[in-house]
Amino acid sequence: MPSPNLNTHNFLYKVPFKFLSLHSFSSINNANFNHLPLDIQRFLSLLHEFSNTLLSVKSIHAQIITNSVSKHHFLSSNLVRSYSELGCLGLARKVFDKIPQPKPILCNSMLNGYLRNQCYKETIELFELMGASDWGFDSYSCNFVLKACMELEDYERGREVIKRAADHRVDGDKFLGSSMVNFFMKFGDFDSARLVFNQMISRDVVCWNSMIGGYVKGCYYVAAFDLFLEMILCGVRPSAITMVSLVQACGGTRNLELGKRVHGLVLVFGLGTDVLVHTALIDMYSKLGEHERAQSVFDIMPAKTLVSWNVIISGYVQNCLVYEAFDLFQKLILTGGGFDSGTIISLLQGCAQVADLESGKVLHGYIFRKGLDINVILCTALVDLYSKCGALKEATFVFDRMKNRNVITWTAMLVGLAQNGHAEDAIRLFGKMQEEGVTANSTTLVSLVHCCAHLGSLKKGRSVHARLLRHGYAFDVVNRTALIDMYAKCGNINYAERLFEDVSFLKDVISWNSMITGYGMHGQGHKALDLYHRMLDEGLKPNKTTFVSLLSACSHSGLVDQGRRLFLSMESDHNIRANEKHYACYVDLLSRAGHIEEAEVLINQMPFQSSREVFEALLNGCRMHKNIDIGIKAADYLLSLDATNPGIYIMLSNIYAEARRWDAVDHIRGLMRGRGLKKTPGCSLIEVGKQLHAFFAGEDSHPNSVEIDRILENLKSELEALGYVPDTSCVLRDVDEAMKIKSLWRHSERLAIAFGLLHTPAGSLIRISKNLRVCGDCHTVTKYISKVVKREIIVRDANRFHHFVDGKCSCNDYW
Ligand SMILES: [Zn+2]
Ligand SMILES: [Zn+2]
Repeated sequence: MPSPNLNTHNFLYKVPFKFLSLHSFSSINNANFNHLPLDIQRFLSLLHEFSNTLLSVKSIHAQIITNSVSKHHFLSSNLVRSYSELGCLGLARKVFDKIPQPKPILCNSMLNGYLRNQCYKETIELFELMGASDWGFDSYSCNFVLKACMELEDYERGREVIKRAADHRVDGDKFLGSSMVNFFMKFGDFDSARLVFNQMISRDVVCWNSMIGGYVKGCYYVAAFDLFLEMILCGVRPSAITMVSLVQACGGTRNLELGKRVHGLVLVFGLGTDVLVHTALIDMYSKLGEHERAQSVFDIMPAKTLVSWNVIISGYVQNCLVYEAFDLFQKLILTGGGFDSGTIISLLQGCAQVADLESGKVLHGYIFRKGLDINVILCTALVDLYSKCGALKEATFVFDRMKNRNVITWTAMLVGLAQNGHAEDAIRLFGKMQEEGVTANSTTLVSLVHCCAHLGSLKKGRSVHARLLRHGYAFDVVNRTALIDMYAKCGNINYAERLFEDVSFLKDVISWNSMITGYGMHGQGHKALDLYHRMLDEGLKPNKTTFVSLLSACSHSGLVDQGRRLFLSMESDHNIRANEKHYACYVDLLSRAGHIEEAEVLINQMPFQSSREVFEALLNGCRMHKNIDIGIKAADYLLSLDATNPGIYIMLSNIYAEARRWDAVDHIRGLMRGRGLKKTPGCSLIEVGKQLHAFFAGEDSHPNSVEIDRILENLKSELEALGYVPDTSCVLRDVDEAMKIKSLWRHSERLAIAFGLLHTPAGSLIRISKNLRVCGDCHTVTKYISKVVKREIIVRDANRFHHFVDGKCSCNDYW
């Protein structure tokens, strides 16, 4: 202990007289000090008045030592308290340790010091020491330790403390009683809480509030209201806290009438000006969708706090009134009250809802200027906003600069990448997340499942499935449905079916839709229809998506009559009005099956402006069935919508080529060249080992390109020997026939198949996923290859699956 310098020395001798003349001791503590020796009284009053700086406390401490009163119990406990309040727990403990047999009053000072400095483990350790050394304890000691147990979520130890309190008969105290009630309520042990509550001799409003608040937090709203009535009958007047709990209960029950009645009670009990109650009312009305009522409560608030501003702003965002929320934010700024991270988080969520990137950027500016960019929740909301607006560069910028990232941050970034089509980057990010030891949650994993589905990566999909199983997330209906979708999209329809048919799986309509879609993609139209009828038998109501899945399943399997019946039954039997998607699927079904004229009539009768999808379906039908007249009309219309879509030119030129109208083909090519349009490069993915390999059409830079060339060269001669004739109509370049054939043999799926043959065991299955529709020649070639190399080849193209086995494809050349 340093000796006090001259200045503090003087100050110490000047102050007490002034202090003593002004204050009576009873104001220092509720105990009566008059029986204490005068010098002890003097130090107590000094500590009371001058404990706001460490220097003054140390000086007083030094004086205490000099005056040889450092062993005084009551004085020491005050010294411990003063040091603890300054956060100097080490010094407090030194004072404590100087007393050989501390009484509860001193121990409690130390316990309280630890508790208020969030040293929960130390609080419990000291209590253990008190028990082991037989120093004795009282209800206050138990109260402090119980709070520490609650903070550490240590239910077992808390129960031991309560048992010891009961053994020592200190549990009758009403403060400890409230604490015990709080403790049991926090851990959802409602029966024990009620038992303690019933045994309490004197119950003040705080005890009642603990019980009622606990019930509300545990969503036992009826119990909360019953207890409230009991409280009134016992003659206890409710406080603001009571009413806050009841208002929250009304929000929880989503019962507006009840909410209005509780609002009435608030006025009856004269709590109509209380800020907390008002804020709770605003929150309740917002949650119940009554933003006008929320606003009027807010308007009459006599003193608005930042919390109440935040609650009303967040209420508007919850009710999708984002711009009203911004108006309020402007008003808040005009009042000069300032805002905090809570305000901004709500507004960011609002911007994410309406994908308002510009306002989001303005908020980002505020965050930066206010120095709030170290707040994890805030930055996570920012990452989420940028991701939802598709601004991945900004999202990554914020993400990379964050020092602390939690699982929600990582998930927001990952979902952003996944939803903006960067599935591979999302999977890579997941790898990094694991390296940093962040445990994925259910949302992370499901979004990875979607990535795997997108990439057609069955192996990665399986490993994510295993992870979901390990964490016990795999049985949730959303997750299970995502897995079904993933297995179907990765070509393993049988496994998707197994997951779906599992008796323990409680399916919802989305699960049924996923399975129907899966069958459709795999050309199993009859199974899709059977499933639909089963779904109806089980009493489920189909939705719009169900019919999109069904119509497209019929379309991929050529089930025209069944599709027609479904389309008609949609409105007549299920009261679902057909939208553009339904029309597009139906037009696709008709035109694929060659009913081009019928499809055209249907388009003309559509109750809304025809969409691009509808005409693309018609155009594709025209290509398949060589209907030049309607094909040209459809292409013209599509080009009037978007003259830069290379797909349309290619389709049109295919139609002309089928009709051997080479002059027109040349003209189209000229147009494309003139407009600087290039075909989207084909890309095929194949998974070998743990790696996903990508091949682009025409590419010859792959490390294995020599071997790939050799394999393709051999295949070409074998296929030609079996009678294969190349179909060069889909090659648009102005080159001679030999060059065209050469370019066909560099289509991405052929490169990927050759790579697969090179690196996978003989006889094993080859899975490929492709970004574009497979071309006619590749389809023929893949059929031949499956026969020659005796392998099953599954190709997922932009539309559907093709299972090639022994020279045939599951699509029956219908795609
Ligand atoms: Zn091709
Ligand atoms: Zn096929």
